[in-house]
Amino acid sequence: MSKAFSNITTPKKQQNIIFIENQEEMIFHFLQRGEIIFVNDAFCRYFNNKREELIGSNFNRFIYKTDKELVKKRLFKLSRSNPEINIEYRVITIDGRIRWNRWIKHAIFNEKDQVIEVQGIGQDITEKKIAEIERQKLNKEILEKNQDLEQIIYVASHDLRSPLVNIQGFSKEIEYTLRELKKIFSNLKINTNDKKRILNIISNDIPDSLRYIQKSVKKMDSVLYGLLKLSRMERAVLNIVILNINNLVADVLHDFEFLLKERKINVQVNRLPKCKGDPLQINQIFSNLIDNAIKYSDRNKQGIIKITGRKKDQSAIYCIEDNGIGISEKNLTKVFEIFCRINPDISQGEGLGLNIVKKILQRHGGKIWVESTEGKGSQFFILLPSI
Ligand code: ADP
Repeated sequence: MSKAFSNITTPKKQQNIIFIENQEEMIFHFLQRGEIIFVNDAFCRYFNNKREELIGSNFNRFIYKTDKELVKKRLFKLSRSNPEINIEYRVITIDGRIRWNRWIKHAIFNEKDQVIEVQGIGQDITEKKIAEIERQKLNKEILEKNQDLEQIIYVASHDLRSPLVNIQGFSKEIEYTLRELKKIFSNLKINTNDKKRILNIISNDIPDSLRYIQKSVKKMDSVLYGLLKLSRMERAVLNIVILNINNLVADVLHDFEFLLKERKINVQVNRLPKCKGDPLQINQIFSNLIDNAIKYSDRNKQGIIKITGRKKDQSAIYCIEDNGIGISEKNLTKVFEIFCRINPDISQGEGLGLNIVKKILQRHGGKIWVESTEGKGSQFFILLPSI
C-alpha cells in the first residue's frame, strides 16, 4: 500500500480506499516534485504499468516533452488561497501512446506555505481534444478564407470602378461626337438614300446602343458601390458606445422626410430603449430598414410605419413594422442573402441592404429576423446588446 494511505486503519477509511480503487477516473497522490506515492488501478491500467513500478517513480517522465513547461508554470502558481488547478496536457504511456488528459490537481501546503504534496483526479480527453483541435483548425481556415474573400471584394469593387468611370466618360464623348457628325451629314450633298441611312444610324442605332451601355454602366457602378460599402463596413473599427435610439431614429426619419411626405406615409415611433453599438453602423441599420419600409409600401393603401422597442434581459429588441407589400413565406430567409431581390420591378436597389444589416448585427453580437404576410406587411426585428 502507498505511503500516503499506509496509516489508514478505520473501516470508514478502508471503504474510501475501495471507492478510490474502483473509480474509472485516474486518482493520484504525488510529492511536490512529482514522485508518485499513490495511484489507483485506473491510473495503472491507463499508463500500462504495474503499481509497484509506478510508486516511487516520477510522474514527470509521462508528461509529453513540449507540455512539461506549461505544467511546471501552472503548478508554480498554486497557493494556499488558490490551491487547485484544472489543466489539460499530453502524456506518453509506457507503450508509447500520446494521449490528452484533463487533471484537477489540488496542492497540500506545509506551515511555510510551500507545496509538499499534490493530489488529484484525471481522465482521458483525447477524442474530445482532437475534435476540438480539428474544429479550431477549421475555424481558422474559414476565417482566413473570409478575409481573402473580403480582400477580393474590396479590391474588385474599388478597382473596377475606375475603368467604369472611363467607359462612362468615353460613351458621353461618343454621344457628343455623334451630334457633331449628325450636323455635318445633314449639310452634305450626297445621295439621299445613303444620307438617310447614315443619319438613321447616327440618330437612332448608335444612340440606342449607347443608352444600353450607359444604363449597364450605371447599374454596375451602383452594385460596385454597394459592395465597396459592404466591405468598408466589415473593415471599419467599431466604436461601441451607449446609444439613445430615440435620437438616432429621429435623425434617420429626418433624412427620409421628403420621401415620407411624397408617399404620404404615416410614421409612429414609441419610446425606444437604449442599446450599445457603433453610432454610424446602427444608423445604417435603421436607415436601411426604414428605406425598405418606404420602398416596399403598398401604393394602394395609406402607408403606416411603426417603430417600437423593448428590453429583454441584457438586450434591446426593436421592430420596424410596415403595412406594405409583405414577403412570402418561402422568401423570408432569402431576403438576407447577398444580391437577393424579390421584387426587382417595384423599386431600385442592389439586394445588399438587408445583407449589410445582418453583417452589422453579427459584428455587434446581435441578430435580425422578419415576420411577414404577403399583401399585409412586414415586421423586421433587430436585437442588440443593451446596457
Ligand atoms: P434592395 O432593397 O436593394 O433590393 P435589400 O437587401 O434591402 O435590397 O432587400 C432585399 C429584398 O427584400 C428586396 O429586394 C425586397 O424584395 C425584400 N424586402 C426588403 N424589405 C422589405 C419590406 N419592408 N417589405 C417587403 N419586401 C422587402
